[in-house]
Amino acid sequence: ASLYRIDAWGAPYFTTNTSGNISVRPHGSYTLPNQDIDLLNVVKHVTDPKSTGGLGLGLGLGLPLIVRFPDVLKNRLESLQSSFDFAIQTQGYDSHYQGVYPVKCNQDRYIIEDIVEFGSSFRFGLEAGSKPEILLAMSCLCKGNLEAFLVCNGFKDAEYVSLALLGRKLELNTVIVLEQEDELDLVVDLSKKMNIKPVIGLRAKLRTKHSGHFGSTSGEKGKFGLTTVQIVRVVKKLREKGMLDCLQLLHFHIGSQIPSTALLSDGVAEAAQLYCELVRLGACMGVIDIGGGLGIDYDGSKSGESDLSVAYSLEEYAAAVVASVRFVCDQKSVKHPVICSESGRAIVSHHSVLIFEAVSAGKQHETPTDIQFLLEGYSEEARGDYENLYGAAMRGDRDSCLIYVDQLKQRCVEGFKEGSLSIEQLAGVDGLCESVIKAIGASDPVLTYNVNLSVFTSIPDFWGIDQLFPIVPIHRLDQRPMARGILSDLTCDSDGKINKFIGGESSLPLHELDTNGCSNGRYYLGMFLGGAYEEALGGVHNLFGGPSVVRVLQSDGPHGFEVTRAVMGQSSADVLRAMQHEPELMFQTLQHRAEELSKAQRNNKVSAEKLAASCLARSFNNMPYLSMETSTNAL
Ligand code: PLP
Repeated sequence: ASLYRIDAWGAPYFTTNTSGNISVRPHGSYTLPNQDIDLLNVVKHVTDPKSTGGLGLGLGLGLPLIVRFPDVLKNRLESLQSSFDFAIQTQGYDSHYQGVYPVKCNQDRYIIEDIVEFGSSFRFGLEAGSKPEILLAMSCLCKGNLEAFLVCNGFKDAEYVSLALLGRKLELNTVIVLEQEDELDLVVDLSKKMNIKPVIGLRAKLRTKHSGHFGSTSGEKGKFGLTTVQIVRVVKKLREKGMLDCLQLLHFHIGSQIPSTALLSDGVAEAAQLYCELVRLGACMGVIDIGGGLGIDYDGSKSGESDLSVAYSLEEYAAAVVASVRFVCDQKSVKHPVICSESGRAIVSHHSVLIFEAVSAGKQHETPTDIQFLLEGYSEEARGDYENLYGAAMRGDRDSCLIYVDQLKQRCVEGFKEGSLSIEQLAGVDGLCESVIKAIGASDPVLTYNVNLSVFTSIPDFWGIDQLFPIVPIHRLDQRPMARGILSDLTCDSDGKINKFIGGESSLPLHELDTNGCSNGRYYLGMFLGGAYEEALGGVHNLFGGPSVVRVLQSDGPHGFEVTRAVMGQSSADVLRAMQHEPELMFQTLQHRAEELSKAQRNNKVSAEKLAASCLARSFNNMPYLSMETSTNAL
């Protein structure tokens, strides 16, 4: 298990148990050993058609599968809040922290509802960046969280601004953050028309720039935010309109995964200066919103040296923010503002685990025994290469062997292309070369494990921006993995593979796929820390849709856990529908054709109609991933 450094990136939520399986400590602390949840048990339980969970129905879910642990989510939220509370208390800061969750990180209904519920005692709010996001945020917060902020970011049109203003009419704590200067006119006009006094925020373009991948948001050339010139103009316009008291919040976001507290403090201090200037110019400021950027340590190195790691804890992050704001405000004798942050990655990443299965692996050192190499029919040159290869192999000259293998293969491929060699002769050469490579110990030790997954649907950031996540087997961790592998997905796309892993490795230590007592020969892998962004960004390349999802709580019951929600992944019909197809009509068309053919071929033993009836409904209704059913009984 130490091979995968689970304790480094997984603490305090993920560790291994004495059965060699990953165990989950949803509350982030060790209470009693039997209160940990064995992840393999969860997977077996929810994929078993006979199990009932807490739901009273056969689950039988297909893989891939996302297992969500709301207790982990709660712990992350509470840890963030208590880190700020502690910093505020110990530093004598004269206001409070009141965060929001940016819903774009994962808009799943139950995640949002959980966050609003778990955070209600400390007024935790939501951030929206589009019209559907503001609609969901408003409907969630109006169930009772009226003091929580609803921060409205993103590009805005009249409809968006009207929604945000309606939010205030509904007595929600909506703040319209101007990301572009021209949004101000919309806000002023619509608030007059709707007779609603807005609360306005400004997103500032800071000079402080973070140099990692996620830093392109920041700096003068960043996509969003107002320059100093624009800020001064906005203040002037608001003053002229008699609305300067509406300007109450200053927002910035220097990018996700801020690597160090030094950079963070620099950015926060710059923003705090701007905040104090807005106070001086007469705005009725009350909140500094430091955006997202609170990072997580994907590689467990705590070095902050790449986008994969951050060199601080939650507590250190909060302490740095509070100290910077306090220092600047004290210097300028400005009342301490409420501190808001928009942490997404740090809140939702840990609580979702993606489980998928390796279904087959290329064999190592496969030497064909049924194909012979006979010298007849090969060119003089090829025979010469063969003699040289044979000589080098006898001398044990490994380097020369590799050169002659290449030469012989290349020459024979040319012969095949010219039509002078048959496929059997080419196969004879390929088989011979493989045997030699194996004999001299030069075979590629990295195997390709085929996984029942689409990288484009479930790990889009790996494909899009080379983001790495910890990927480990969730069982057999008490056995030494004897192979190394890369993971190849189901899509017909050469980019659909994972060949870079945490720690700069180009392959992953993996166990051989064999019949293993406790898991019936199945080999399950987990991708951890992927709860933010991946689900929202994933697409349906090759029409592989969303995975199954379960929500698992710790419980005193016989399994130590309880499944409180279980949703089967998107079926083939669902993904077809998403691309404007009409599965019901498709079904009818195929069924109709089968009926017609059956009428015409009356004496056929197995009628097309009967076959269609057994295949079609199943295929439309099932998930598009490989079904691991081994029997053909369904026919
Ligand atoms: N706020 C804004 C404006 C953002 O653009 C983002 C992400 O890019 C976030 C918050 C969330 O950032 P993170 O996931 O790093 O917390």
